[in-house]
Amino acid sequence: MIDFTLTDEQREMRDLAHTFAEQEIRPVAAELDEKEEFPWELVRKAGELGLTTFAFPESVGGLGITDELTNCIITEELSWGCAGVATVLGGTHLASIPILLAGTDEQKQRLLRPVVERNGLCAMALTEPDAGSDVAAMTTTARRDGDSYILNGTKRFITNGGIADLYVMFATVDRAAGHRGVTAFIIPGDTPGLSGGKKEKKLGIRCSHTGEVILEDVRVPAANRLGEEGSGFRLAMTMLDRSRPMVAAIALGIARAAYEYARDYAKERVQFGKPIAANQGLQFMLADMVTKVQAARLMTWWSAKVTETGRQYLYESSMAKNFASDVAMEVATDAVQIFGGYGYIREYPVEKLFRDAKITQIYEGTNQIQKMVVASHILK
Ligand SMILES: Cc1cc2nc3c(=O)[nH]c(=O)nc-3n(C[C@H](O)[C@H](O)[C@H](O)COP(=O)(O)OP(=O)(O)OC[C@H]3O[C@@H](n4cnc5c(N)ncnc54)[C@H](O)[C@@H]3O)c2cc1C
Repeated sequence: MIDFTLTDEQREMRDLAHTFAEQEIRPVAAELDEKEEFPWELVRKAGELGLTTFAFPESVGGLGITDELTNCIITEELSWGCAGVATVLGGTHLASIPILLAGTDEQKQRLLRPVVERNGLCAMALTEPDAGSDVAAMTTTARRDGDSYILNGTKRFITNGGIADLYVMFATVDRAAGHRGVTAFIIPGDTPGLSGGKKEKKLGIRCSHTGEVILEDVRVPAANRLGEEGSGFRLAMTMLDRSRPMVAAIALGIARAAYEYARDYAKERVQFGKPIAANQGLQFMLADMVTKVQAARLMTWWSAKVTETGRQYLYESSMAKNFASDVAMEVATDAVQIFGGYGYIREYPVEKLFRDAKITQIYEGTNQIQKMVVASHILK
């Protein structure tokens, strides 16, 4: 039996994130989306409030809040404000997971502390042009050279890629070894040879920065290697197991916002002399929407709680990410329908939510990959 009674700290963090989303994010979200403008000001303010690095240890200036349920509660609120902003801040959380899991105290002090002090951002770089779902096909290489490694390659579709203060970078020390060659490194963003490549123009979450990261003879001290050589693939999988509830929470925030806008609009919009909400057809749609939102929240919170067991291979995270992202897409689509023609127009908020929802079915492993994880668990 799982108890979802929130602690005082979780309620405080939820209220903090909600107020930030309502007062700071929502008023600028449409404009940032329209201009595809990165939310630097919001990043600064979120950093000051502790909403970016709350999971970092207190010893390096974070709040030491490492449970994924609190992260999901915060992320739902931020995404309710704007999924693009939630993705930017989530990129830092994502990159912190492997450091918290495998980093030494010395690495955390030396490499995480400056991120907190600068109100900075992190990025996690796994994907490459020819290695997306098939992570182990990566071709970015790390060649040992004395006390360092020399990294070469190109990473693609990296959230905060090219603008981050710190990267968790996955590369292979032995391409012939497949996933057994994958190794993780922590690399400061100003390291010579590391640069940002193409910035992508996107369907949704347009204020977030998604870009290439190019590595040209990047010299990384061996002291920045995360764990042992060859342990990177397992570390990446463990990271994704832990971070997928957060993606579910991003989806949940989008779905909740879409449902609320549709509910309020249905009560106000008058056709045939009565609010459109007076039609049972729309009432049933709204009832299904709110039910799906609640079900997605239960899945998300449950999967977040499961991460606390310390077990390897958390198929529950895949179930939640798959389910909640489908809910986001369905609820956002229904919200556009309830708004009618206005739903299709940029001036109204649900059009953006519809576009934003789609990415949750794709990033951090597509929903097909999530189904593969679940299927392999139930069929083994
Ligand atoms: C906005 C955005 C932000 C991102 N942020 C990051 C980030 O911060 N860090 C990072 O490392 N990556 C990031 N990504 C990359 C993202 O995780 C990948 O795009 C995703 O994992 C899919 O890889 P791919 O695009 O290469 O698609 P592919 O792997 O080429 O897949 C194409 C299609 O084939 C399907 N498919 C592939 N293999 C199978 C199979 N075996 N069975 C059934 N179907 C299959 C997929 O589900 C998909 O529908 C981001 C992507 C985007 C768009």
